[in-house]
Amino acid sequence: MKNSLPDRVALVTGGGSGIGRAAAVAFARAGARVVVSDVDPEKGAETVRMMPASSTFIQADVSVTSQVKDLIRQAVELHGKLDCAFNNAGIEGAIARLHEYPDTAWDRIIQVNLKGTWLCMKYELRQMLKLGKGAIVNTSSTAGHVGSRGRMSAYIASKHGVLGLTRTAAVEYGAKGIRVNALCPGAVRTPMTERLLGADPERAERMAQFIPMARFGTPDEVAEAAVWLCSDAASYVNGLALPIDGGYLAH
Ligand code: NAP
Repeated sequence: MKNSLPDRVALVTGGGSGIGRAAAVAFARAGARVVVSDVDPEKGAETVRMMPASSTFIQADVSVTSQVKDLIRQAVELHGKLDCAFNNAGIEGAIARLHEYPDTAWDRIIQVNLKGTWLCMKYELRQMLKLGKGAIVNTSSTAGHVGSRGRMSAYIASKHGVLGLTRTAAVEYGAKGIRVNALCPGAVRTPMTERLLGADPERAERMAQFIPMARFGTPDEVAEAAVWLCSDAASYVNGLALPIDGGYLAH
C-alpha cells in the first residue's frame, strides 16, 4: 500500500491505541499527512512519535460536539483540507445481560460509538463537500452484523447503528464524490480485547476455535483495509460493510 495516499490529509480517531494506532502509522506509510486524535493525550502523543514529522496529535472526545468541531477545524487549518477520515474511536462498555444493563453505561457507549461517529462524519462531510471529494471509513464490528451471547447489547446496538449511518451517508453523498464505508473487525488483539478477555489465555483459545482461520486478527490487518478503502484503488467502493474477521461471519 506504499504511496497509495499521495498528498492526502487523513484523520484517525482513537489513534492512541490498538487499531487506530496501527491505522495512523499505515496512513502515514501510504503517503498521507495524518492527524491523530484520541481522548488520551499521552497515548496519542506516543503514536505520533512512531510517525513522520508531518503527523500531528489533536486531543478530542468524539462524543462532545464542540471538541469534534474544533478537531476538524484545527486539522483543516493545519493542512488546508481533509481528504480521508477513519472514525475508529470506540469503547466496549459494561458487560451485563440486557435486562440488567446499567442506564449510565448504555448512554455512554451510545454517546461515544454512535453519536461520536455521527459527529465526526457531520463535520468531516462539511469539509469534504467543499473539496468535492473524500473518503470516510467508520469502524463497526462483526457485532454490527449479528448478535452474540457476550452480554454486550449496548455495544452491539451501537455497532449496528454505525452501519446504518455508513449506508445512509454512502447513499446521500455518493453523487458528491464522497465514499463512505465501514470496517467490521472480528476478534483483533488490542488493549480492548485484552480488557475483555482479562488474564485468561484459555478463553482466547476457546474464542479462536470459532474463527475459521483459528486465530485473532492483528491491528495491522485492519489498518491496511482502512488505507485501501480511502485510496483510489477503492474508487467505486461505497456503502460497504467489510468484515475483517478470519471468516467468522461466513459461518
Ligand atoms: P482500544 O485499543 O481500546 O483503542 C480505542 C482508542 O479509542 C483508545 O485510545 C481510547 O482511549 C480511544 N477512545 C475511547 N473513547 C474515546 C472518545 N470518547 N473519544 C476519542 N477517543 C476515544 O480499542 P481497539 O480494539 O483498537 O478498537 C478500535 C475500534 O475498533 C473500536 O471502535 C472498537 O469498537 C472496534 N473494534 C475492535 C475489535 C477488537 O477485537 N479489538 C473488534 C471489532 C471492532 P482510552 O483508552 O483512553 O479510552
